[in-house]
Amino acid sequence: MGKPIRLNFDQHIHFFEPNMKPATSIDVNTRFIFHTMDALEGRAYNHQDEFDLNDVNPATGPIFINGAKPGDVLAVHVYSIRPINTGYAGAGSGAQRIVRQFHIDGNEIRFSDGISLKMQPMIGVIGVAPREGRYSNMIAGDHGGNMDCNLARAGATVYLPIFIDGGLLAMGDVHAVMGDGEVGGQGIEVGAEIEIEVAIENWQLKRPFIETDEVWATVAAASDFMTAAWTAVGDMVDYIGMKFGLSPPEALLLVSLAGNIRVCQIVTAMPTARVELPKGMNMSPEHLLGYNSRKDKMSFLDAKVA
Ligand code: CA
Repeated sequence: MGKPIRLNFDQHIHFFEPNMKPATSIDVNTRFIFHTMDALEGRAYNHQDEFDLNDVNPATGPIFINGAKPGDVLAVHVYSIRPINTGYAGAGSGAQRIVRQFHIDGNEIRFSDGISLKMQPMIGVIGVAPREGRYSNMIAGDHGGNMDCNLARAGATVYLPIFIDGGLLAMGDVHAVMGDGEVGGQGIEVGAEIEIEVAIENWQLKRPFIETDEVWATVAAASDFMTAAWTAVGDMVDYIGMKFGLSPPEALLLVSLAGNIRVCQIVTAMPTARVELPKGMNMSPEHLLGYNSRKDKMSFLDAKVA
């Protein structure tokens, strides 16, 4: 395999919209690296806390995926997220606000004497062009965007609905670590290199969906958290109903017994929730979603829970 194609962070967007100009185009099943800036384009290093909110969360891209058509699903498999060695995070407001730099040394981030954190890099902003409208990278929506979902890590596959030709994928806002909720308003904001590969699949998807080795997760954003959570519940009911041939009440029962509502972030105008369903139930491996393999998927779509 050749060297992955790499897109530098000078090609970036602050809004997801249908008429974005692609920075480049790629074929499916090709390794690709997004070089991303931190959420404030480095300005917080200088303690410049005043900035235009429209400048926040630059997302490198967008890239046109050859062959991606509206109604298809874009599967973005994340191979690795490699942060640079210095990040920052702030919390509080006004005179009480603090901003700290963090040195990232291997997998450890020193918080203070006696407190260190394990690096767990995740992608805060990942999305495609919406069907219509203009979405700031400050917010999340059906197109993805600022989901700040802790599942968007190396090893995960992020599925996004394709609304326009080429999909137009962009991402950025990597956090070296972030707690669910992002309650102070930031994770450890850091520039990074994200290596991915995309595939185009053919199934029904309204909103972002994330798969890891452990869980399937529906992700939804709304102007209030309850609506976001219930939207994610509805999506999971639809998803496992389709996958395992369950009636809506059966699927709801399964989600009620085994699914977990989690907070992605509750600090933007569009709080984001996810519903995780563990794969560890009595589902044999051949029922699991086969990345890159439509044929496998068709067989498990026909499968029933044992
Ligand atoms: Ca974010």
